[in-house]
Amino acid sequence: MLCEVAAHFLILYGSQRGQAQSIAEEICEQAAEYGLTADISCLSNQDKYKVESEIRPVVFVVSTTGDGDPPDTAQKFVRKIKNKSLPHDHLSHLRYALLALGDTNYANFCNGGKTIDSLLQRLGAKHFYATGHADDGTGLEVVVDPWIEGLWDALKKKLSGMSASDQTGDTRSDCTQDNNHKNASGQEKNKSDVEVDLHLLKLGEVHSQNETNVTSDSTDAETHSSTLVASLKQSVPPLSESVLKVPALPPSYLEVVLEQASTEGETVPSGKDGYREMSISKAVQLTQDDAVKSSIFLELDISEQDVAYQPGDSFDILCPNRASEVDELLLRLDLQMQRNCAVQVSLLKNSTAKVPLHIPQNSSLQFILTWALEIRSIPKKAFVRALADFTQSSSEKRRLLELCSKEGSADYNSFIRDTNVCLLDLLQAFPSCLPPLSLVFEHLPKLQPRAYSAASSSLQHPEKVHFVFNVVEFPACPEHPARTGLCTGWLVDHVSSILQPLGTVPASECLATSALPKVHVRPRPSSTFHLPSDPSVPVVMVGPGTGVAPFIGFLQQREKEHETNQEATFGETWLFFGCRHKDKDFIFREELERFAHNGTLSHLIVCFSRDEPDAAGTINRPTYVQHNLLLHAKNVARILLKDKGCLYVCGDAKNMAKDVNDTLLEIIGNELQLDKLDAMKIVAGLREEKRYLQDIWS
Ligand code: FAD
Repeated sequence: MLCEVAAHFLILYGSQRGQAQSIAEEICEQAAEYGLTADISCLSNQDKYKVESEIRPVVFVVSTTGDGDPPDTAQKFVRKIKNKSLPHDHLSHLRYALLALGDTNYANFCNGGKTIDSLLQRLGAKHFYATGHADDGTGLEVVVDPWIEGLWDALKKKLSGMSASDQTGDTRSDCTQDNNHKNASGQEKNKSDVEVDLHLLKLGEVHSQNETNVTSDSTDAETHSSTLVASLKQSVPPLSESVLKVPALPPSYLEVVLEQASTEGETVPSGKDGYREMSISKAVQLTQDDAVKSSIFLELDISEQDVAYQPGDSFDILCPNRASEVDELLLRLDLQMQRNCAVQVSLLKNSTAKVPLHIPQNSSLQFILTWALEIRSIPKKAFVRALADFTQSSSEKRRLLELCSKEGSADYNSFIRDTNVCLLDLLQAFPSCLPPLSLVFEHLPKLQPRAYSAASSSLQHPEKVHFVFNVVEFPACPEHPARTGLCTGWLVDHVSSILQPLGTVPASECLATSALPKVHVRPRPSSTFHLPSDPSVPVVMVGPGTGVAPFIGFLQQREKEHETNQEATFGETWLFFGCRHKDKDFIFREELERFAHNGTLSHLIVCFSRDEPDAAGTINRPTYVQHNLLLHAKNVARILLKDKGCLYVCGDAKNMAKDVNDTLLEIIGNELQLDKLDAMKIVAGLREEKRYLQDIWS
């Protein structure tokens, strides 16, 4: 048993899009379950904590943004601990654990967390638990969940040995090894994995006793299992016959009361979280109807707003959940009659958790499900576990327990995570599951805004900002019906009344502002992705598809600067663009050709991945942007290595950015006759000097 003082620890998070924050909050909430109390603070609130004199163990949760940078909210903290004049033992008293979040689709995986980790180490701070590196590319929870499970033992050990070890300087539980939880199948096991396994085993023993009925009930269904294939609803042996090790049931902590006060017609208040309501003054379809993906151009009127931006900045758009999905959810939760009730959320007695800040008080249920919660989020295993307890049918309950169990990890990945199943899909698949609203509120994360890069320069379009986006489409699969991306699907419906087809002359009559569709937007400035301040620095831009967006802004800016300052020297400007078909989805074609024609662009290099070879039947024609980069390797190498130029890459993180990075390594390796490792060092140097910049998304 830990004494009260020794049961305290501190959680510090650096979050860019709320993920690190919500994981930090989850740790904070779970702490009580283990008899611990946590204080929690964002790294940006520097008056709320003092690592210089912190004697409690500290748990850092840090995401990564931009080009492998720590999140904006952690920048000040990083600057502070980066100060070279600090003595090497400045933080030698500090015992900490760090969970780094990243995405292996991006270069510099988890670099935000790694940077903070190495700076803390340099100042003498010591791990009490191995660092976790969670990969959004494969699913954060693959690492996050076991890391958190292992954290409690490590914290307890640290806290109980605290006074003795602190006096003797004992760092028994310090661990400098990299906690590389590679994947769900557990390659690269290490100490913390073993601790997690043991923890699960204990839970499994408890549950296997409690769940005997479920196990035997399922045997009937499995008699014919040789003809069955596994699905979201159905398992096959050996899983259907396994004794399950399921995660601990997360304790409920919220009380939700619905009051019969009419709240009909509420909207998101302007100014909330920095969002302002802006009019969409123009919407144009940029692609042919038969293009594989549909790209839409939007113009926002910012004349009424005090908003300044530079090309390279993005904007967050707040989109609501689909009304039809909110309705279905209300129906499935048996709450359709209470949709307009005012919701009061409070903590259950004795709970030391916190009411989630993103759930507003006194708003209607419909409003909360529409604007506050990411109802499309993939339910975590803890949520699936909790849902099982509100499921009447024993076979459905057994399947839910399988899906959240250690043995059912592969099924969870195949039928929930990889297919992007959401709560509604689970409720449709398991009709006897009827969770209380409080459980839904406890487990659904905050609805996140979606970012869009400005595709304009305010020099050329004062009082306006432009975006371009692809309408994301998810085809139907056994787990759910066909869907469009939440924000892009909503936007395309939202602007349908003003959407102009490709090639039309923009309507001359202006609609009254009141008739224009509105959207909640807030600026999301980039700290690095901007044109070099010296216009003579040469630039190479790589932006296929909608990745061209920020470069349209860059080029509009340069075009204006050319016009207004004829004397200035402008460096070479290359743009590598690609799309599927020249005649279907070559977005911004006229504008790009104008830039090439008037010298704003020195080189416009395009490729079309799905066009038939031309009449001349060119063999080996470049298909993707990286092929064109290779064709122009000498120039790219010269610009980066000799002329101190900049390389910008924007667009798809999953394939394109990786391929471009590999091509860059090849170009530099060939040019300087280096092996891959040395080429990587040069590329890392370019990143460090902010001459290789990425703005990529998946
Ligand atoms: P969501 O519903 O959020 O789905 C997005 C992803 O979730 C999918 O890619 C997929 O991985 C997964 N997913 C969700 N549901 C399913 C399902 N049922 N089946 C399979 N997979 C599923 N985008 C642009 O088009 N233009 C831009 O200029 C632009 N700029 C950006 C700038 C920044 C800094 C960032 C971070 C992102 C930018 N994006 C841009 C991406 C944009 O923010 C959105 O992620 C994108 O538009 C998709 O949003 P959505 O809500 O429509 O899709």
